[in-house]
Amino acid sequence: MKFATKVIHAGIEPDPSTGAIMTPIYQTSTYVQDAPGKHKGYEYARTQNPTRTVLENNVAALENGKYGIAFSSGLAAMDTILKLLRTGDEVISTNDLYGGSYRLATTVYERFGIKVHYVDMNDSAQLKAAINERTRLIWIETPTNPMMNIIDIKKITKKYNNDDIIICVDNTFASPYLQNPLDLGADIAMHSATKYINGHSDVIMGLAVTNNEFIAQHLKYLQNAAGAVPGPQDCFLALRGIKTLHLRVERSCQNAQKMANWLNKHKKVSKVYYPGLKSHSGHSIAKRQMKDFGGMVSFDLVNNKYSVAKKVLSNTHLFALAESLGGVESLIGHPASMTHASIPKKERMKVGLTDSLIRLSVGVEDYDDLREDLAAALAKI
Ligand SMILES: *Cc1c(COP(=O)(O)O)cnc(C)c1O
Repeated sequence: MKFATKVIHAGIEPDPSTGAIMTPIYQTSTYVQDAPGKHKGYEYARTQNPTRTVLENNVAALENGKYGIAFSSGLAAMDTILKLLRTGDEVISTNDLYGGSYRLATTVYERFGIKVHYVDMNDSAQLKAAINERTRLIWIETPTNPMMNIIDIKKITKKYNNDDIIICVDNTFASPYLQNPLDLGADIAMHSATKYINGHSDVIMGLAVTNNEFIAQHLKYLQNAAGAVPGPQDCFLALRGIKTLHLRVERSCQNAQKMANWLNKHKKVSKVYYPGLKSHSGHSIAKRQMKDFGGMVSFDLVNNKYSVAKKVLSNTHLFALAESLGGVESLIGHPASMTHASIPKKERMKVGLTDSLIRLSVGVEDYDDLREDLAAALAKI
């Protein structure tokens, strides 16, 4: 089955009791048993819910994986993956990653004796130097947020995927339509489904997909033991959003590419970070491991003061000033004060995340309208 068919059909059957074509919202906390221990496979809704099961199976198919596990947020998914580790274990992570992921790994898990090394994953020597016998998890985010760096997933999995090390890719920015980490040798593909997967800015959710039965069993155990599960209504909304994932992402990519080309020539813009630009350092890797270059674009200003960036950020009308990404509507954001405020300035500056960096989540609106909106805001500075 090809992707566009999978989003609509994989793991989805008409409801057996009524024939309803849409997966029903099983809004229940428990299930009646015929006799103690004699039930229809469902006992308690933290453990299992039929709406959730359909979503999990569908997303597993989208990532070419066997097992899908849904969580109440992207960070709950990451939290559960980190719980596969023990005190004394070490993690190696991309140095340019989602602020909340950084906060969870450092401020929470370091207290439990798990050490996290942040490295430039494109620098093989740096990566090699950080790996030791205590390394248990390699955490890759690509494209990275908000600098749009591209990490060569296959290069890393080829070298380091062994029985001791789990390699997880946060695939949120790409979505399963553009990139499939399991096919590139990763053990886990993780998503903040809040973003492209749901795609309509009305649900917070996380997902993990794997082909590894051992990892799947552990994650399912932890999902039930700790209980960060999504509700059935949110699973229904995510399933509905997924049906147009390929169409939405395709249009976002087209709009983002045009926007990046245009910004690249704008005289008030000093730098554009978009993997679809030939000048981008990760362009050729992105071309190889992704179907297209995504809907996220970051750019910096010639006059790189926060006060100047603030003017642009406050003067768009179609681009809404908000955190998050991956919805049908375009958003504009200021990573230094919003999504990445929890990262110390010294760490931010190391990767080029300046006070004037602006991030766009390019939606599926008409491109000309979006460009005019941004042009008017840039004209104010
Ligand atoms: C949003 C995001 C997360 C966290 O997901 P939530 O659903 O907000 O918990 C993790 N990684 C990336 C890349 C994200 O964009």
